[in-house]
Amino acid sequence: MARPSWDEYFMNIAEAVKLRSNCLSRPKGAILVKNKQIISTGYNGTPRNVKNCNEGGCKRCMDRKEGRINSGEDLDKCACNHAEENAIVQGFRSGLSCRAWNGTDEGSRN
Ligand SMILES: [Zn+2]
Ligand SMILES: [Zn+2]
Repeated sequence: MARPSWDEYFMNIAEAVKLRSNCLSRPKGAILVKNKQIISTGYNGTPRNVKNCNEGGCKRCMDRKEGRINSGEDLDKCACNHAEENAIVQGFRSGLSCRAWNGTDEGSRN
């Protein structure tokens, strides 16, 4: 087996992380990498302490899965967090500190 490039390596890991996603409509995985080191991982699904998406935790995803709404519809009603978002939150939980930009001139420090 050929040794993967860094991109392939990280993509493969993100794919593995995705397998933990509990989102019915759009399973995704994300990893945060700094200096070629993984500092956090995340996958999408309902927030902590909320029933998993695949167990009915998100009405919007269930409606989507069962064909009551179309792809892209009612996204504002989706309870699921994005994988990237979860990777960042998970990173904070483990003590990671970073700077977030919100599109204005001022960055907010977390
Ligand atoms: Zn979902
Ligand atoms: Zn949802």
